[in-house]
Amino acid sequence: MGVKATTNIYGIFGHPVKHSLSPDMHNSAFNTLGLNSVYVAFDIAPDNIEEATRAIRVMGIKGINITIPHKQTIIPFLDEVSPDAKLTGAVNTVKNDNGKLWGFNTDVGGFLRAIREDLDFSPAGNTLFLIGAGGAARAVLSAFCMNDGAVVYIADIIQAKAIELANQFKANFHNITIETVSLEDQNILEQKFGEADILVNASPAGMDGVGSHDIPLASLNKNAVVYDLVYKPPNTKLLNDSKELGHKASGGLTMLLYQGAESFEIWTVERAPVEIMKKALGY
Ligand code: NAP
Repeated sequence: MGVKATTNIYGIFGHPVKHSLSPDMHNSAFNTLGLNSVYVAFDIAPDNIEEATRAIRVMGIKGINITIPHKQTIIPFLDEVSPDAKLTGAVNTVKNDNGKLWGFNTDVGGFLRAIREDLDFSPAGNTLFLIGAGGAARAVLSAFCMNDGAVVYIADIIQAKAIELANQFKANFHNITIETVSLEDQNILEQKFGEADILVNASPAGMDGVGSHDIPLASLNKNAVVYDLVYKPPNTKLLNDSKELGHKASGGLTMLLYQGAESFEIWTVERAPVEIMKKALGY
């Protein structure tokens, strides 16, 4: 379907954003359902997020996905934030409801569906070792805290960030143990890796052109599973090394798919054509 004067506009705000697979995924879904809509990528520098958010209203953009580095900083400029996104402290989906901007977080549901489907894993009663303390890590932590996870260890290259994240979640969730671990302390890392049921990378380490981890993977509990949120490249060093050590391991494409499907359904109130979206991601 061609773009017309009446075409609805959706898109993504990120910086950088040219690597994004979301336009392929959502435009395939719009075309398949015959919706008069188009999805484009907007490169928004960090200082421009307030202005860009105002433009959603001014230009009548129907919906926007939010990615690095805006998931937390956009929140003050929205009219309403869903309870889950508020608890998570990050928004990845904005819906323009007749000029009222609503924030949601579909990374949480996307992560849960991905670990269930790819790894046959759910948080209840389990121990998570989480690498990274940014926007995506918040979604993983939320998914664990809201679904009866037992213990979470968090490590970030900036330990103060991990401590801040842990403190925020400890204040809201009292039945889960949340501790931070220094990436500098190999002994403690080895001990905590031995306790983990799932290791999740929610840092950019392993992305094209970004360095990989210096972590004691061999200390990981033999039955632990590994989920790497990075989806480009699809086979990171973490995934390859984990599989070589005999762990069930999966990359971030399935989470990308399901967070996108959930956003699509919030915007259009149509059932997302998941198989078409999957194909567009190059599965
Ligand atoms: P972010 O907000 O920048 O947070 C990443 C955090 O990890 C930052 O605190 C960063 O520190 C830290 N970090 C960087 N390298 C590290 C390392 N080697 N070890 C430990 N911590 C490290 O980014 P994000 O939005 O959370 O995204 C993180 C990753 O998840 C990206 O690769 C993104 O593409 C992926 N992601 C995937 C999905 C999906 O659907 N599969 C969804 C969301 C995000 P600095 O600030 O100092 O760099």
